[in-house]
Amino acid sequence: MEETILKILKEERGADWRDETRKSIKTKERTQMSRVKMPEADPERRSHSYEEVNQGLTEEQALAEARRCIDCPEPTCVSGCPVGIHIPKFIKHIERGEFLDAAVALKETNTLPAVCGRVCPQELQCEANCFYTIKLKKPAVAIGYLERFAADYERNSGKTAIPEITAKRSEKIAVIGSGPAGLACAADLVKEGYDVTVFEALHELGGVLKYGIPNFRLPNEIVETEIRNLEKMGIKFKTNFIFGRTVTFDDMRKEGYKAFFVGSGAGLPNFMNIPGENFNGIYSCNEYLTRVNLMSAAHEDFDTPVRFGKNIAVIGGGNTAMDAVRTARRLGAERSMIIYRRSEDQMPARVEEIKHAKEEGVEFMLLTSPLEYFADENGFVKQMKLQKMELGEPDASGRRRPQPIEGSEYMVDTDMVIVSVGVSPNPLIPAVLPDLEATKWGTIVVDKETMQSSIEDVFAGGDIVRGGATVILAMGDGRAAAAGIHKYIQEKVAAN
Ligand code: FAD
Ligand code: SF4
Repeated sequence: MEETILKILKEERGADWRDETRKSIKTKERTQMSRVKMPEADPERRSHSYEEVNQGLTEEQALAEARRCIDCPEPTCVSGCPVGIHIPKFIKHIERGEFLDAAVALKETNTLPAVCGRVCPQELQCEANCFYTIKLKKPAVAIGYLERFAADYERNSGKTAIPEITAKRSEKIAVIGSGPAGLACAADLVKEGYDVTVFEALHELGGVLKYGIPNFRLPNEIVETEIRNLEKMGIKFKTNFIFGRTVTFDDMRKEGYKAFFVGSGAGLPNFMNIPGENFNGIYSCNEYLTRVNLMSAAHEDFDTPVRFGKNIAVIGGGNTAMDAVRTARRLGAERSMIIYRRSEDQMPARVEEIKHAKEEGVEFMLLTSPLEYFADENGFVKQMKLQKMELGEPDASGRRRPQPIEGSEYMVDTDMVIVSVGVSPNPLIPAVLPDLEATKWGTIVVDKETMQSSIEDVFAGGDIVRGGATVILAMGDGRAAAAGIHKYIQEKVAAN
């Protein structure tokens, strides 16, 4: 992928590679500039509201940050991005003040830059591979912040470029699930001219982008705008439609659908199966966030509100755990605790989310694990028994395995617990397709290049293939599957 991008960049810029922008400031000067700081909402104020925490770069900040990019002849950052965004190209557009062109460059490979600029773990992807990180040992160019800046600029300008679809093909394709995998797949297929319908089980579109990630991190209206833009490109959406229950695959084949993309995600919560986990006031992370984000359960006068715990504990150390604990804080928790059995540097959550949670007063109880919950006379959780852990030898993941310290148990009061210890794939689609090859964990087995499953007209990607992963990996899968579906259909057409 990197080779192709390099070829494109060389063709665009000429063989000597040095365009006017690059010559305008000396490389040494660029590398001496400091990384921009993202303006953030005040921690005390924001921990009582849903205002977005990161407020976005100003134009001056974006221009200054774009100048730090030295436009490497071989941009290693590109290889760190799962969808291969032309990173130097979009950043140099920003440096020249061509903000709309920057957004267009981003959208060549990424359908949802406003989303990815906000939620991608850049420190592990593009920014981890930036020249500054690798060679200079300095803070990377803020690629994610700049990506968000360009995408927001385009949206706020009201001049969003909707690609004109010139191709027209008769074949109908069904996309199952409207998360990032489904949306990315549908976007590429509609650009090829196919008749694409996205079927979504919930009443809202967007998958985890809407039901999981809270507004203070990713405002719903941003996801909604992106979806409306996809609609303008010709994608059809059907909500409250459970594929495999509302209809079967055979029903849809009879209706003329020629291929299926399964992007049904991993929404099945895991539990620890410890005593007392069924007491009232103990939620799975998915239930808690979905009810708050999509079902008005954050309002006390609503028929079925969630519990408004004052002394809450979230078990886990991923993005989901951070989102849950910070949501509970916003809903009135006075003491909010993260209980994680490993150390902080082993936490899977984005570094920024950990920092923000700490600023908002969340307590981190690291190397600690719950053993048992205790309830009051009405069956509501009131206490938990915790145990201290220490790190032992590395496990299969390469991380040092946490081991219990005998005799270190202690009790802590709590009136609400949210369990966030991972998710499993949604089981419905594998259950209704007996010929579909799946792993023992319930993920669908696909060809890594085309994303084709063991059933020739069924393709899959995102969390249903990877287990819980990331937004951008799901989108990369969706795009690979769109290419796989196009190839599959064209080969069928050629054979007939
Ligand atoms: P999903 O987003 O889960 O979408 C699947 C959709 O399919 C859902 O809308 C579901 O309702 C629908 N569906 C399921 N079955 C059917 C059916 N039978 N018929 C019709 N529709 C169906 N990743 C990051 O990169 N950065 C983050 O900061 C981050 N934070 C996260 C926070 C939370 C709370 C959670 C839960 C996840 C987070 N992730 C994050 C992970 C990321 O969101 C997922 O990896 C990604 O959304 C997976 O995309 P997907 O399209 O495969 O599935
Ligand atoms: Fe980095 Fe994510 Fe943007 Fe790719 S999509 S450049 S990984 S922030």
